[in-house]
Amino acid sequence: MVLSVFKSGDELFNQGVDLIKRKEYAKAKKNFEKTIEKGGREAALARAYVDIIDAVLDKDNPGRYVKLAATLDQMKDGFEFGLTEINPSRVALECRLLAERMEAGRMSNSAPAQAEIKGNKFLDVARKYQSMIGNDTIMISEIIGIPVNTGIKEALYAQALGYENLALGAVATDPKRAAELLQNAYACRKQLGEDGQNVLNAINAYSKSVKCWICGRPATGEGIHFVAMSSDISPFMRKSDDDILKSAPDNYGSVYVCRPCYTAISRRSDEISKQYHDRAMQEMRAMEARLQSQINSMNSAMMMRR
Ligand SMILES: [Zn+2]
Repeated sequence: MVLSVFKSGDELFNQGVDLIKRKEYAKAKKNFEKTIEKGGREAALARAYVDIIDAVLDKDNPGRYVKLAATLDQMKDGFEFGLTEINPSRVALECRLLAERMEAGRMSNSAPAQAEIKGNKFLDVARKYQSMIGNDTIMISEIIGIPVNTGIKEALYAQALGYENLALGAVATDPKRAAELLQNAYACRKQLGEDGQNVLNAINAYSKSVKCWICGRPATGEGIHFVAMSSDISPFMRKSDDDILKSAPDNYGSVYVCRPCYTAISRRSDEISKQYHDRAMQEMRAMEARLQSQINSMNSAMMMRR
């Protein structure tokens, strides 16, 4: 009897399936790769397993899901991955949505125009989750081991992020509109069972209006279009009954100042500090040079005495 030391593609495949059940994914992947090399009967399924394992082992990489979706598009019949029954066309759709959501998350929002694009992208993803998945549970999350939600719940997350980014884009030009957008985000966060406190704080800040203590102009949007500057509102000043006094934080330890006044003051004071700094450095260098020349002349005097 001849014992074969080399396993066939099919044997390697079956062993790989067992390894998946034991969650030994890296080992299973090697088996499936060898199955593909040897052209076993299950080579096509092995290819899908390799792409699923790549996604499991590299969850944060949207490219993995795009590749997996393309592989699943080629498959007609359902199959099992571990204990999960996979419907290829459905999981392919979920992979594409997940990749889109991750890519939206990676978009920059540092400039207002970028934040608006990012916000609209999230709202677009939200609409897709709602209409294409709806109340169904998302299988790919279970397969790769991330929190499992329904399409509706994913839609709410994406919607909240969408409105938060749109608000970020709007606040520089229209803080009232930014506060309205955040109301939508807050409603989503509440539906998700979160307290939404951060959003609520931002709504309050964006919708707060005051008058500037320096120029008297009205400003809306705390931290954006006006800021509190440390000051001391004396008891006598507290008694006066004008609009501007109403525009002071409760503890009388600061005054509200509009952004143009604030930046004018801080830039001018930076310039003044820089002048003092430069002058002090200049004097230090002159002193250093004087000391150095004294040291040099002492050195040469000592040399002459030797
Ligand atoms: Zn001002």
